[in-house]
Amino acid sequence: MTELNPDIEQVILTEDDIQSKVALMGKQISEDYRDADLLLVGVLKGAFVMMADIARAISIPAEFDFMAVSSYGSSTRTSGIVRILKDLDLDLHDRNVLIIEDIVDSGLTLSYLLKNLKGRKPRSLEICALMTKPEVQEVTLDIRYHGFAIPPTFVVGYGLDYHQRYRNLPYVGTLKPHVYED
Ligand code: 5GP
Repeated sequence: MTELNPDIEQVILTEDDIQSKVALMGKQISEDYRDADLLLVGVLKGAFVMMADIARAISIPAEFDFMAVSSYGSSTRTSGIVRILKDLDLDLHDRNVLIIEDIVDSGLTLSYLLKNLKGRKPRSLEICALMTKPEVQEVTLDIRYHGFAIPPTFVVGYGLDYHQRYRNLPYVGTLKPHVYED
């Protein structure tokens, strides 16, 4: 078992929780897109870990692309303002696109992305999100593949950072208060 990082207060999702869920999601995606021309779009930086795991849980041919957006700056509150820092390399026209997101908080980032990507005329556009925070979600989103509903607290790990750290933790957890004060 992985040793717990000393800055972590509480583990919200264990490595086993995440790995079993991602395996299930990958299986379902492979069935649903069996004869489709699947293109997975990962939202950087957070989704890079999930993208790597889900890629290997998918058994059908698929392509992968990434875009980088910024909605948080370096604080722990969403601003509602989304900036595209890196756009996709591939053309989405007539493709079956599946967005891979690690976490949906207010939903503002995804809702902006959906609007932006829809404009590129994909054949289909769906969302796969590992975590949502239903209590603070401000916009309704149709999430086709959903992992876990978590409490409305700030979490790190499995791709998610605080000041660019903790992304490499294989689990998801909350930080001890002193980390914010330091
Ligand atoms: P939203 O626009 O849904 O409020 O926020 C979405 C983005 O904010 C996520 O893709 C993620 O980058 C970031 N975010 C939301 N909640 C958390 C959290 O609990 N921890 C971290 N590290 N980032 C979060």
